[in-house]
Amino acid sequence: MIYKSCHLIEHGISIDINSIKACCLSREFDKGQLMILPYYGNNTINWDELFRIKKRQRLLQQGKTLSACEGCYNLREENWDDDDYISFINFDHWNQCNSDCIYCGVRKNKPKTQNNILKPIKELIKSGKFKNNGEITFQGGEPTVLKEFEELLKIFIKQGSKIRIHSSGILFSRAIRDGLKKGAVTVVISPDSADRETYKKIKRTDKSNKVWENIKHYRKKLNNETSANVKVKYIIIPGINDSYEQITEFLQKIKEYDIKSIIVDIEYTYANRNINNISPHIYIIMDYIENFAKTNNIEYALYDSALYADKNRTYDKTCNFDEQNIKSQISSYIETNKSKNIQY
Ligand code: SF4
Repeated sequence: MIYKSCHLIEHGISIDINSIKACCLSREFDKGQLMILPYYGNNTINWDELFRIKKRQRLLQQGKTLSACEGCYNLREENWDDDDYISFINFDHWNQCNSDCIYCGVRKNKPKTQNNILKPIKELIKSGKFKNNGEITFQGGEPTVLKEFEELLKIFIKQGSKIRIHSSGILFSRAIRDGLKKGAVTVVISPDSADRETYKKIKRTDKSNKVWENIKHYRKKLNNETSANVKVKYIIIPGINDSYEQITEFLQKIKEYDIKSIIVDIEYTYANRNINNISPHIYIIMDYIENFAKTNNIEYALYDSALYADKNRTYDKTCNFDEQNIKSQISSYIETNKSKNIQY
């Protein structure tokens, strides 16, 4: 039937620390997220009940957009099927991490929790109501610290799912490596720096060498088709990792480790406070990295805040990539825009 909906209302679940929702998008606070069932990691999910609720939500959505979803960019008109199955799962059922990034907002002051989910996931798969045409994502804290992570990952690799993992890269995971080799897994690691001192400032842990070593291991045995599935991210944090020298060192490391995909973002708090007044040097850095990627045949993508800032550019695209020009522009704008920096 043709109506406006989204793939997550239809066939998605996001497993949180105390509930199962349709998605993890936190939009306007008063609207909340599209709740399905409470779940506290007790290893029991009543899947029949969950599918009943999802069916009811689909029916309501056919008549009028659900209030939790009003205005969401994911809504689109399509011919949706009415079958009961799940093909998008976002795991967000823990908040433990082995890093302590200055910009992290994941339940900072809440007690650290790691719920169980393996048993109900096995039941879902056994019931035949999981379809592998969607995507599995791990959001939470750091997935490699999850006790059930390796087994969960193996299950979805076996299912032929597309799996996207954000990891600190501090712990090496055999399941990630195997999934990468099979082309089932994409891993995003965000060292935000190439040098140890900057890394320590951002992550408040001394693991830079370990992280780059793991990036190298993940990348090592991939072929041309899968090489871009190891994605290295740089979150630009004004005042911390935005000097010409820091960016250049990062790009040298990208080349040295033969990385084929770079993601750029802007630290959220800074971007949020300055969205109409982003310092020009941030745009210059984005353009500089993009130009480097193009020249070296590397995939380049912007995430969240950087994507938004780029769409609403307040500074023209850089054309002159002469080293001296870039260097002097970045340092002069850093100086004149210091007052906007966030004190972490
Ligand atoms: S909020 Fe958006 S992404 Fe989430 S279920 Fe609703 S329409 Fe889909």
